[in-house]
Amino acid sequence: MTINTKTGRLYIENRAASDIAEEFGTPCYVYSKNSIETNFNRFKYAFGERKNLVCYAVKANSNIAIINILAQLGSGFDIVSGGELSRVLAAGGDASKIVFSGVGKTHAEINYALEQKIKCFNVESESELYRISNIAKELNVDADISLRVNPDVDAKTHPYISTGMKENKFGVDVEDATRLYKTATDLPNISPTGIDCHIGSQLTDIAPMRDAALKMVELTDALIASNIEIKHIDFGGGLGIQYEDETPIHQEQFVEMLLEVMGGREQEILVEPGRSIVGNSGVLLTTVEYLKHGSNKNFIVVDAAMNDLARPSLYNAYHHIDNILDKEKRPLKRYDIVGPICETGDFLGKDRELSVNEGDVLAIHSVGAYGMTMSSNYNSRVRVPEILIDDTHAHVIRKKESVEELFSNEQIAP
Ligand SMILES: *Cc1c(COP(=O)(O)O)cnc(C)c1O
Repeated sequence: MTINTKTGRLYIENRAASDIAEEFGTPCYVYSKNSIETNFNRFKYAFGERKNLVCYAVKANSNIAIINILAQLGSGFDIVSGGELSRVLAAGGDASKIVFSGVGKTHAEINYALEQKIKCFNVESESELYRISNIAKELNVDADISLRVNPDVDAKTHPYISTGMKENKFGVDVEDATRLYKTATDLPNISPTGIDCHIGSQLTDIAPMRDAALKMVELTDALIASNIEIKHIDFGGGLGIQYEDETPIHQEQFVEMLLEVMGGREQEILVEPGRSIVGNSGVLLTTVEYLKHGSNKNFIVVDAAMNDLARPSLYNAYHHIDNILDKEKRPLKRYDIVGPICETGDFLGKDRELSVNEGDVLAIHSVGAYGMTMSSNYNSRVRVPEILIDDTHAHVIRKKESVEELFSNEQIAP
């Protein structure tokens, strides 16, 4: 365990959370380097000698220090914007291991990705095929593409993070895929080299993932039979983690399922995990500003808010919250943990039993994925610092934003 409670005190690796809060202030995001590395390596070791590329989904946590840790372990990257491409390159990532997903790639983004010679575009529509072909022709290069296929399986996750059903904006229908691959083959400066899918996020049932994988290999066989050379199959990301009492899909279990479905097929296997690498590797430390006892509800008002961590208000997501110092034998009370923002939706946890005093520090767990990357400046709150713990060492990997930076791009009109 790299985030644990030793003798009633929370530790991130070998550093006490209380020290970190004192040294860097709160709120702050704190990550365990060891946890990130371990989660990535579990995918790699599970594949063993099998030809594979684990493409970390950058949008889960795009801090360049985290990208750099993964790049050093040989990771590939799944990006969804030109901004993410810049980050990966700045962090030392290898362009030839980057796949570019997303339904709305702009002309400028495609141009940039072609110049940088990324591995593959995960194409989401027929129009995008024409656009990539045109730009590749102008640049006189070949674009390797894969079609994001919508396998039409119900991933049984939150509707906002389900992406693999027909009524969804993502990907192309299986029935349409063969025709589109033929179109792609005929287009100038386009080489179809792969096929991909991503059916949703925070999946805790492996059955829909297996159904999707089966549809993918079936389609691959059909494409190969019509002389379309598929060199890699990208099965996407989406593995769920434990936030509350879910049973997560382990990396080994997922990879084993893929290897079984692949059988003797020799295509390179790509996966695009985000949450399962960084989710449980981070906590958000926040200080109790006020305790407020009402007639039928008690509130803990903390210094973190929905702008720092949007998941509770956005998806009604659960994050475990505890006091970093175990207040043993003091009475527990039921509280809603809320931030200072002027929105009723500004809560971080509801109906939790805690023992707290004003001034105590709380840890909000499992915030390494879709935490900092979804943060905003709402209410003119500065973005919080990010700290990476490596054994006993604490590295500031993002400085606390300054108030001047908040409006440095604005100007008063003449
Ligand atoms: C978000 C996303 C991922 C990563 O999903 P996780 O649930 O974080 O593993 C992978 N691929 C695509 C195309 C995505 O949009």
